[in-house]
Amino acid sequence: MNSWKNWANLSKCEPKKIQFPKSLSDLKQIITETKITKETLKVVGHGNSYNTNFHTEGTLVSLKDFNTIQETNIETQQVSIDAGVSINKLVQHCSNNGLALSSLGTNMFDNVAGACSTGHHGSGINYGILSSYIDSFDLLLASGQTLTIKKGDWLYDALGVHLGAVGIITKLTLNTEKRFKLKQEVFPISLQAFQDCMSDLLSANDHVKLIWAPHTNDYQCWIANRTEESIDHNFMHWKNHMIDGLLINNLVHASLLYTTAIKPAWIRSINQWLSNYFLKGKTQCIGWSDQIFYLPHLLKQDAIEYAIPLDKTVAFLQDLHNLIEAQSFHVQFPIEVRFVKQDNFWLSPAYQKDMCYIGTKAHLLPFLTPNYKPYFQAVSQLIETYQGRFHWGKQNYSSKTYLENSYPKWKEFWTLRDYLDPNKMFMNNWLTELAYKPSKTDIEMFKKQHFDHDLQLVK
Ligand SMILES: Cc1cc2nc3c(=O)[nH]c(=O)nc-3n(C[C@H](O)[C@H](O)[C@H](O)COP(=O)(O)OP(=O)(O)OC[C@H]3O[C@@H](n4cnc5c(N)ncnc54)[C@H](O)[C@@H]3O)c2cc1C
Repeated sequence: MNSWKNWANLSKCEPKKIQFPKSLSDLKQIITETKITKETLKVVGHGNSYNTNFHTEGTLVSLKDFNTIQETNIETQQVSIDAGVSINKLVQHCSNNGLALSSLGTNMFDNVAGACSTGHHGSGINYGILSSYIDSFDLLLASGQTLTIKKGDWLYDALGVHLGAVGIITKLTLNTEKRFKLKQEVFPISLQAFQDCMSDLLSANDHVKLIWAPHTNDYQCWIANRTEESIDHNFMHWKNHMIDGLLINNLVHASLLYTTAIKPAWIRSINQWLSNYFLKGKTQCIGWSDQIFYLPHLLKQDAIEYAIPLDKTVAFLQDLHNLIEAQSFHVQFPIEVRFVKQDNFWLSPAYQKDMCYIGTKAHLLPFLTPNYKPYFQAVSQLIETYQGRFHWGKQNYSSKTYLENSYPKWKEFWTLRDYLDPNKMFMNNWLTELAYKPSKTDIEMFKKQHFDHDLQLVK
């Protein structure tokens, strides 16, 4: 194997070599060798990011053979894992031990470490991004030293979301909770009705999402709450997964999209049909939390997702509707609106603000790739007028300067990064295009502020 494609088949990394370490000492050996050759190194998780942030021209490291669940403490509800463990494996392990992660996105196939590095999130205004559930993590640096970073340390905030740009996460300890069931309810809602009850909806329900079929005024509200009621018969889950998720949402939708090769404007009718099938009815279903969080993804797609301040949600959706119609874009995928609690991670899109995440995608079908990039670009421009911050695992159209102005700790993050990895082992082209280049003064000021802390570990 000498290349690695991302999940969406959008990008191919062709490094000099790919390494599959089985142990911490194998990993340390790889770092030592890379130091000598002065080449670059990047870890790939599951390769699910839509952008090229896991790419390198040097050594690509996959942790797929470094994936042991190290320790489970039922009393403290903490689970320690090697960094190659996938969310799916962790979720299964937790279920077997009567535990569960408090909030998850819709994709179980990321690696926990990869997902944390890019600020992976689910939905629910009282629930933070995945990194918020880390109790501690070990970061192997370019120097060969390991930092153990614990919740409460300033480095936890600085590096809890780090884009794989600072070191290799080798171990994570996560806080979980007792395994729980969720009662999922979906019902149609107008944007006006959503606006009227948004704050009550968000505070009264554990998990809330809004799904909008573009070119229609149809929205669906999805809520999920912890319950002690009995779980539904497996048939309900099978129907949700196989019939609604895989067959209708993926395969039938894909077949209909082929007709748009003749006339792109037919997307309107397809969206209306999908909306009538999916968004108009009221349904409910009770299942274990992971069954409810998960959504099957069969069709390849490209995606952008931005976090905007919560109070701008409805105004933004109205503007997005106007933008799509005014510029005659054909948007063939439902737009997903999620809500995430604020945190203190320097590079988290939810840094110190409760956020609404707006995700929009484009299906990429064999022999039918729509011209969606002008749409992504226009949405990104609109988002910037709302001070949006893009999801680190998705596509980005924001400039360096914009990012510098959006993240109060931007300069400090890159100064710390350069301090911990002066020879830029963990940098790649994607990161270099975004990164702030610290000046000597930045470095001096940063040292004054932080040098007495854990950084003295790093010579
Ligand atoms: C179908 C699909 C559904 C998705 N759904 C959601 C969702 O619901 N919510 C959401 O927030 N996101 C979602 N995403 C985005 C996805 O969660 C992120 O892109 C995530 O980073 C992917 O994890 P990965 O393990 O594949 O990481 P990769 O894409 O392989 O890597 C991401 C970054 O992490 C770094 N990295 C990986 N492992 C380590 C390590 N051990 N140490 C240091 N750095 C490391 C890599 O170098 C890279 O910079 C989805 C993506 C897809 C394709």
